[in-house]
Amino acid sequence: MSPDEERTRTVMRTVPTAKGDQLVNDDSMNKKDLVTRKDESMVVKVEYVPRIKWLDLSAQIFIHVGCLYGLYLVLTQAKWLTVLWVFVTIYTSGFGITAGVHRLWSHKAYKAKWPLRLLLVFLFTITGQRDVYTWALDHRVHHKYSETDADPHNAKRGFFFAHVGWLFTTPHPDVVAKRKVVDMSDLEADPIVMWQKRLYIPLFALLAIGLPVAVPCYFWSESLWISFWISFNLRFCVTLNIAFCVNSVAHMWGQRPYDKNISPVENVAVSIAALGEGWHNYHHVFPWDYKTGELGEYSLNLTTGFIDSFARIGWVYDRKSVSPRMIHRRAHRCGDGSHVWGYGDLDILSEDLEELEMMDKHEL
Ligand SMILES: [Zn+2]
Ligand SMILES: [Zn+2]
Repeated sequence: MSPDEERTRTVMRTVPTAKGDQLVNDDSMNKKDLVTRKDESMVVKVEYVPRIKWLDLSAQIFIHVGCLYGLYLVLTQAKWLTVLWVFVTIYTSGFGITAGVHRLWSHKAYKAKWPLRLLLVFLFTITGQRDVYTWALDHRVHHKYSETDADPHNAKRGFFFAHVGWLFTTPHPDVVAKRKVVDMSDLEADPIVMWQKRLYIPLFALLAIGLPVAVPCYFWSESLWISFWISFNLRFCVTLNIAFCVNSVAHMWGQRPYDKNISPVENVAVSIAALGEGWHNYHHVFPWDYKTGELGEYSLNLTTGFIDSFARIGWVYDRKSVSPRMIHRRAHRCGDGSHVWGYGDLDILSEDLEELEMMDKHEL
């Protein structure tokens, strides 16, 4: 039994009767959140009781308190070059999240040659947001089962849970179950992704802590103490919170022009902070579009500019997008088929898929 399953309590079990198996209540506790699980001989209903993962909570407290101390050092003692370095690092490594683990690896929205995949995995590791495989798996589950118990950061459980709470509480059993059924064979076949997964801890130490902290010390004699709290801790915390806002703010406050029945919204502020990832209503409806937004303006979607630049030198190809006709059609038929994890998901509507294939062949 996994630790997640251990943290659920059994409240019902099946017993054989003349009419077949029947569910029997074991106690009178609250049954509003029951989950059914089968094994060979019995059906067990369990109540989900979220528990705090104290190690993860301690890590989040350390990161956020350390960020405040880093901010104090920025205002009082840090060299301006260190502050500039942190800003530049946040916004270059950010492409590892947006263009890399999100649009490329989670959604297959375009294809990239190995030098770019290597660059993206390098940038993504600097952000410290776990390995590509784990991030992309949770993100596919988030899209596929959005706003249900199986959504790892289900926004229906409130702002705080969607923002950060999901990282230090035990997941709902549906999340654990769905993580096992989402297709990840494409990432398993990518040697760069699997290499980073295998070596994640030393790579994190080297690229998320060592490199960003060492540069200010080596090149402009910043103190190691100040560089640690700013170049690692503050930077890490800011990047994390920008990404968290896509799961919380961009699921709550903004417009829903493409599907009014889902929680994701179009939010300009998140788009500016997150390099173009705030067009979240559109993105949940058309997750395979490499632009993650209807309009291709680079000023509010720097990641699209990043991907297009690499397309010009041939490192990016096969960019998936959405025709105006498809957008128009979907905007008038809210709710149907909007929960797909990206290109290749079998639940993409056949007419959308046909049109995508015609676009690939430049017949549209
Ligand atoms: Zn996404
Ligand atoms: Zn979302």
